[in-house]
Amino acid sequence: RKAELAQWASRPTITADGQRIEIAANIGQLEDVQKALDNGAEGIGLFRTEFLYMGRSELPTEEEQFNSYKYVLEKMAGKPVVIRTLDIGGDKELPYLDLPKESNPFLGQRALRLCLERQDVFRTQLRALLRASRYGNLKIMFPMIAVLDELLEAKRILEEEKRQLTASGVEVSDSIEVGMMIEVPSAAISADIFAKEVDFFSIGTNDLIQYTMAADRMNETVSYLYQPCHPSILRLIRSVVEAARQEGKWVGVCGEMAGDLTAIPLLLGLGVQELSMSAGSILPARELVGQLSRNEWETLSGQSLAMRGQQEVQSFVQDHRRGV
Ligand code: PEP
Ligand code: MG
Repeated sequence: RKAELAQWASRPTITADGQRIEIAANIGQLEDVQKALDNGAEGIGLFRTEFLYMGRSELPTEEEQFNSYKYVLEKMAGKPVVIRTLDIGGDKELPYLDLPKESNPFLGQRALRLCLERQDVFRTQLRALLRASRYGNLKIMFPMIAVLDELLEAKRILEEEKRQLTASGVEVSDSIEVGMMIEVPSAAISADIFAKEVDFFSIGTNDLIQYTMAADRMNETVSYLYQPCHPSILRLIRSVVEAARQEGKWVGVCGEMAGDLTAIPLLLGLGVQELSMSAGSILPARELVGQLSRNEWETLSGQSLAMRGQQEVQSFVQDHRRGV
C-alpha cells in the first residue's frame, strides 16, 4: 500500500476529468519542508510561524526570521509558499511578551489583534518576509481577521514597510500575493467585502468550526461539535467560495478538514481550488482526487448542503464512494 501510494508523490494533482487542483502542505517548522517535498507537496499552503517565537525567552530577530523564510522559499524552488503572520494567543502563549491573563483567550487578543497592538513585533516579521520575498514565490497571509478595518490596517502597515525597504535600496518582489484566513464567522459572512481587498482566501476550518459551533477546540467535552461536514459549515464555505469567485480570487482550505477523505469531494464540489494539509495526508488525498469528477462532486456537495446534520452527510458521501 505504501509503494502504491508513493507513485503519487511525483504526479500533479488532477481530477478524473482533468481539472487541476493544488495539494499543498501545512508546515510548522523548518524540518517539515523536506517532508512536504518527499510527499509531493505542490506548495506550502500554510506556514505556521509561531515556532520561531515559542520555546525561547525573547523575540526572534529580523535576521533570524529572514533566514528561516528564505530557507523555505528557496527549498520550495518557485512553488507557492503561503506564510502566515504570527498567530499567538488562544492556546499558544509567549511568556516574554508579558500579556495580561484573559478569561477567554480564544476570544481574546489573538493573532492579528495582538500584532496590530504590538506593531514592533508585527513590523519586524513583515520586514523579514519582504526581504525574503525575492527568493521564491511568497504569499503573505493574515490570520483571525474579523472586520475589514483589521485587514486594511494590516495591509497599510505592510505597504509602509515595503516602501521603506525599497527606498533604502532593498530588493522586494513586486508579485507577492496578500491573502487572509477565513476562520472567524464574521469574515465568512462578509467574504464578498473582503474579497475585493485580498488576492486569496484560505479557510481555516479548525477555528471556523470552533467559532461557528461555539465549541472550544481544546475542550474534549464538546469535541462532538467539531463537525467539518455539518451543512452549516458547508454553507459557509460555499458562500466564501462564491464571493471569491465573483472577484476572481482563489480559495484554499488549510484546516484539518482539507485532508479529510470524506470532506474532500465536498470541498471540490464547493469550488475550493487548493487543499493544504499535513504532509502525511497528501498522497491519499491526491489518489482520491484522481478518482473524482465534476458529476460526482456536484451531486455530493449539492445534496449535502440540504441535509440535517453531519452524520447524514458523511454516510451519504461514504456510501456513494463505495458504490462507485
Ligand atoms: C485553522 O484554524 O483551521 C488553521 C489552519 O489555523 P490553526 O490551526 O493554526 O489555528
Ligand atoms: Mg486558526
